[in-house]
Amino acid sequence: MKNRFFNVAIDGPAGAGKSTVARRTAEALGFVYVDTGSIYRTVALAVSERGLSCADEAAIGVLLKETRVELQWQDGVQHNYLNGDDVTDRIRTPEISEAASRVSALPAVREFLLETQRAVARSNSVIMDGRDIGTVVLPEADVKIYLTASAETRAARRCKELREKGIDTRLDDVLREIEERDYRDMHRKIAPLRRAEDAVLLDTSSLTLVQSVDETTKIIREKLGL
Ligand code: C5P
Repeated sequence: MKNRFFNVAIDGPAGAGKSTVARRTAEALGFVYVDTGSIYRTVALAVSERGLSCADEAAIGVLLKETRVELQWQDGVQHNYLNGDDVTDRIRTPEISEAASRVSALPAVREFLLETQRAVARSNSVIMDGRDIGTVVLPEADVKIYLTASAETRAARRCKELREKGIDTRLDDVLREIEERDYRDMHRKIAPLRRAEDAVLLDTSSLTLVQSVDETTKIIREKLGL
């Protein structure tokens, strides 16, 4: 029997605008927006607070046994909890971006977070963004979109976003980080970033944010018959 909740998967590389587009589209459609990158970031924070290397899978496996990652929505805004503490703001630094990309390559970490993601999608209409949502987490999603943009466009957007948050950054550093992250995300053995065969490709390089949201909403409405 068809799930009565709608599941929309939006995947793509870092900085393509996924989170903003997914959040605004979810608002327009009355769906719950689920940011899955943030849960890898939460695990990365746990690993960094414990002083572990992101490559030490055995030690991270032990840490995960005593780690709780929870998601809650307050006024439509997702909050991430690590062992009961709200860490939503602390997971947005460049160091945690880097660590999240590294720990997310570990099978133990992906396995640990899989059920957290699927549970939300089972009981809500969701727009879930990430890297492997359409391919691994929700392979039966009603709509799949692969949202991308050139690395230069993505770096410029990310730089602006970080500066607005008061984090001082240089464009070429951000571009290098993005390219390294793309490479790692696309070449890891487990759940690499790739477009699902049945995903609609949307390149936002020459689109404004409003146009990207409109286009995404249109694709979803058409597919769901809303
Ligand atoms: O999207 P965001 O930049 O917050 O993601 C942080 C990192 O988490 C990514 O670089 C990626 O390695 C990882 N990630 C993932 N699978 C997802 C979402 C994010 O591996 N579904």
